[in-house]
Amino acid sequence: MPVNLLDFDAEGLTAWFAQQGEKPFRAKQVLRWVHQAGEGDFTRMTDIAKSLREKLLLTAAVSPAPTLSDRLSDDGTRKFLFDVGNGNAVETVFIPENDRGTLCVSSQAGCALECAFCSTGRQGFNRNLTTAEIIGQLWQANRLLGQSLAADKRGERIISNVVMMGMGEPLTNFDNLIPALRLMLDDHAYGLSRRRVTVSTAGIVPAMDRLADACPVALAVSLHAPNDALRDQLVPINRKYPLADLMAACQRYLKVAPRDFITFEYVMLDGINDREADARELLRLVRDVPCKLNLIPFNPFPNSGFKRSPRENVRRFAEILIEAGIVTTTRKTRGDDIDAACGQLAGQVLDRSRRTTAEKVVIPLKSMFQQAGVTQ
Ligand code: SAH
Repeated sequence: MPVNLLDFDAEGLTAWFAQQGEKPFRAKQVLRWVHQAGEGDFTRMTDIAKSLREKLLLTAAVSPAPTLSDRLSDDGTRKFLFDVGNGNAVETVFIPENDRGTLCVSSQAGCALECAFCSTGRQGFNRNLTTAEIIGQLWQANRLLGQSLAADKRGERIISNVVMMGMGEPLTNFDNLIPALRLMLDDHAYGLSRRRVTVSTAGIVPAMDRLADACPVALAVSLHAPNDALRDQLVPINRKYPLADLMAACQRYLKVAPRDFITFEYVMLDGINDREADARELLRLVRDVPCKLNLIPFNPFPNSGFKRSPRENVRRFAEILIEAGIVTTTRKTRGDDIDAACGQLAGQVLDRSRRTTAEKVVIPLKSMFQQAGVTQ
């Protein structure tokens, strides 16, 4: 099996080159070809010594996960599905905006966290993606987008931001995530600033500390509830890392974060977490943490058991936070015509071994709906 060069960050590639008796500057050259030029064919790396090219042809490859589908939404959002083998596939979403282009990247095939309102969580967990499969999404998207946008966007970076908000919990795939993040930041690879690379987590507290040490990028935390009782139901990992621990971890992260705030994500679920009293309780929870709040209107999927908060509830909820001085935005729902909106990424996950437990978590929520007077 050839060695997949997409698995290496600069340090890893230099070490591998050293094992082959090659100098560090050669590794930099190849890194630039692969990630800056998007080149996967060694024969076209023209400024590299022929002998090295021949050696690479025999021992190495640039092998991203192959593209299974590529769909364009009416609003310009584009969703790619990549084949990660054995019947599993992961999704990557490109979201163009006026001043930036954001790529939403997956970290796992499926997810083990079983957040009650998330379609990926419902499917169960199959496995962690490798570094090559994570960075390969960026590599592939750059090529696929470059092909269609090259004419009018020449010279501009099409993907200016990366958010680890696709399928999976990035911080439970730490060891494969870090080299991928380092490539995103590396000037010889994608050269993105730390502020433009965001890891989103459901709150894996010890891994948040490790991220602060290893590669402090922007951090988003999926809060979704203002107290432990509700968060235990919606985001079951809260039973292990409750809110007090999570808030303390956010404070620690802020000491090294590239931005002076944490982004809290809060999915708006009708009758569950969207009342004025919830907003007030949320204010008390985040009072001491410099933060921005990002409200995400729930994106439905079949048999989710939840309903999106009415627009008026979202507006009122945001107003309460804004009045208290918290910068609050409401995420525009984009790409939902191609199931590319947050929480709708399903990919394809064959091993559904965790599914039974996921169903168990959903049961108490049904009674919560009844209490809230929501009819299905
Ligand atoms: N595991 C990471 C990344 C997940 S996806 C995390 O939990 O942060 C990114 C965001 O989409 C998370 O805040 C997630 O909770 C949210 N999300 C999941 N399902 C959703 C849905 N159906 N509608 C709206 N947002 C959803």
